[in-house]
Amino acid sequence: MAHEKIEISEDGTLIVPDNPRIPFIEGDGIGPDIWQASKIVFDAAVNKAYGRSRAIEWVEILAGEKAFNQTGEWLPEKTVADIKAHKIAIKGPLTTPVGKGIRSVNVALRQVLDLYACIRPVKYIPGIPGPMLHPEQVDMVVFRENTEDVYAGLEWEAGSEMAGKVIDLIESETGRKIRSDSGIGIKPISRTGSRRLVKMAVEFAINHGKKSVTLVHKGNIMKFTEGAFLRWGYEVAAEAFGDQVVTESDLWENFNGELPDGRVLIKDRIADAMFQQILLRPAEYDVLATPNLNGDYISDALAATVGGLGMAPGANIGYSCALFEATHGTAPKYAGLDKVNPGSLILSGAMMLDHLGWGEAADRIRCGLEKTVAQKTVTYDLARQMEGAREMKCSEFANALAENL
Ligand code: NAP
Repeated sequence: MAHEKIEISEDGTLIVPDNPRIPFIEGDGIGPDIWQASKIVFDAAVNKAYGRSRAIEWVEILAGEKAFNQTGEWLPEKTVADIKAHKIAIKGPLTTPVGKGIRSVNVALRQVLDLYACIRPVKYIPGIPGPMLHPEQVDMVVFRENTEDVYAGLEWEAGSEMAGKVIDLIESETGRKIRSDSGIGIKPISRTGSRRLVKMAVEFAINHGKKSVTLVHKGNIMKFTEGAFLRWGYEVAAEAFGDQVVTESDLWENFNGELPDGRVLIKDRIADAMFQQILLRPAEYDVLATPNLNGDYISDALAATVGGLGMAPGANIGYSCALFEATHGTAPKYAGLDKVNPGSLILSGAMMLDHLGWGEAADRIRCGLEKTVAQKTVTYDLARQMEGAREMKCSEFANALAENL
């Protein structure tokens, strides 16, 4: 069976052959364990959904410690080129090297591939122990801007020449004093970056029948960065989607507070208030669009409401490629023990199959996982919190899930 690359047409749609070649980065620490387990599930799901007419050829590419050990580089150029060429890749967690060259392989991948949206769906899986009284009300998708904000990497240590120059410049240009022993970080938020992120979030809401998109910002304090994100968000929603959307003020002025059928409500919340809302009124929120740092915090906080990061999937999407990933780290103390929960990578793979248009296989994975959890056959992290559960190894969980597809 000849395997082919996925292509993108001129209008930006994916052209997916029946036998696509998809690169994977196994990941460090527990990466090899969860990758092996996930691959079993992906191949079985595609086979169950499409028989022999479709299959994925997995191609290993290197990043992180494995890449460093084999090539001397944390993120070899070939890896970036392979992801660009194949349009799609999936990855396990990667060690963040401390004090060595590259700041973070994950952040570097997002920036160099311009994967401008980090997407995290957070939905309760019945049976998973969690802290909420009504976790079933949590069903949100976070669109986090992925390339700018304080993650842009513009930071200078206290006492460094650059920090001193910036402090002097600010004082001479504005008269404002900054303590001379301050570290300095820059928070760029652009109209381009904000608009494309919010546009993707609203498009997703429209295409998936979601009721609202909430812009989460701290614009009351950071007016020209987070406040501007908010303004540009409303601007692009109105320009690009016209009467498919309605704002909260419109809703009350023109529609008596009732959302007209088929429209998406665009609203905004200040970030600190939003952290309360996800706990107190989760049913009122569907899609969240956030700048980078808010999105980082809120994605993990939301994952906690449905039982933690062990099962939270993620995708990084740009114009020309997409990278799907486990959202937890490398958990080095469990490396090679065949012990941890592969759920996050498995569900990220389901997002990848959705992205390919292979929704039948993706749905089988999500249903199979729910069924496996309902049978209380789970890995240690869930077994220790579930009464009457049977603890399974990482690979055993994958095999049980594959049986349940
Ligand atoms: P971590 O690797 O996520 O592990 C923290 C704890 O979370 C583990 O000790 C374990 O808890 C639990 N955990 C994580 N993954 C799990 C899984 N699949 N199944 C069950 N439990 C799981 O966070 P960390 O220790 O802060 O970070 C370790 C390394 O990973 C660092 O180098 C960090 O930079 C990197 N990292 C990478 C990514 C990424 O690649 N996207 C993300 C985050 C961190 P218990 O001890 O309670 O069992």
